[in-house]
Amino acid sequence: MTIRLNKPLAGNGGADESDVKQLKKALNRLGYYTPYEKVGITGIPDAGLFAALKKFQKDSGLRAGGTMKPGDETVDALNTAVSQTPPGKYIWHTVGDDRVRADHAALEGEVRTWGDGLEPGEDPNCRCWAEGVDKRKTCEELGDNLRIAYIRLDGFQKQLSQAIDAFNQALEDARKYADEYIKIAAEYGMDVALSADKNILGILGAISAAVFQYSEVAAAKEKAEQSKEEYESARIHMEYLEEEISKIADEIKQIEKQKKESGCK
Ligand SMILES: [Zn+2]
Repeated sequence: MTIRLNKPLAGNGGADESDVKQLKKALNRLGYYTPYEKVGITGIPDAGLFAALKKFQKDSGLRAGGTMKPGDETVDALNTAVSQTPPGKYIWHTVGDDRVRADHAALEGEVRTWGDGLEPGEDPNCRCWAEGVDKRKTCEELGDNLRIAYIRLDGFQKQLSQAIDAFNQALEDARKYADEYIKIAAEYGMDVALSADKNILGILGAISAAVFQYSEVAAAKEKAEQSKEEYESARIHMEYLEEEISKIADEIKQIEKQKKESGCK
């Protein structure tokens, strides 16, 4: 593919139709220009062409005026870029209407290599265009990552709402068992004093009552300690989920930004 302009090209009209077509094909191949899917590569100089041309000129260190003349630096830079583009892969797209040649329609969606056989837009009046494989892969990957991130976010949010309930319950329990422990401990002290009896049976009774009371206090203490531990772990779990949710939310923002930068839908 070699660009040779017939006329100067500028945004104010009068462009040569075949100049526009070859320019669109070159910029499409270089990943700068993507036509409207249902229109494809045409000889009409549209806004997308001039935007692509300016971007190419800027990237090539040329004045990004969006205009060209036969044999100028932009023509040279385009021919150099096209000849130096590694033979990457692209997907053949037709505009999908009934005027598409049957043999081109058969190529729709086919992954091909640049320079290997017929290229989109090469046959006379062919409006077919190319989609760089890498860009599509990037967008697909970003789309997948975004879906996964939203699924994870949803899962963590559900877990968090359960964790908040568990935390509130644990807090209530911890308070209740702490109160119970204090109350039982106080009762224990009082019962020992009342059981101080000289009668051996009374003493034995007091001892067994004391042992019983003591185990009751110990159980209350254990219960209180256990519920305090449960409260602590419920709090740590809740904080962990909150942190994870904020990480996933940042991840989502990052992917949305990348999608925008890559020009994905
Ligand atoms: Zn075609």
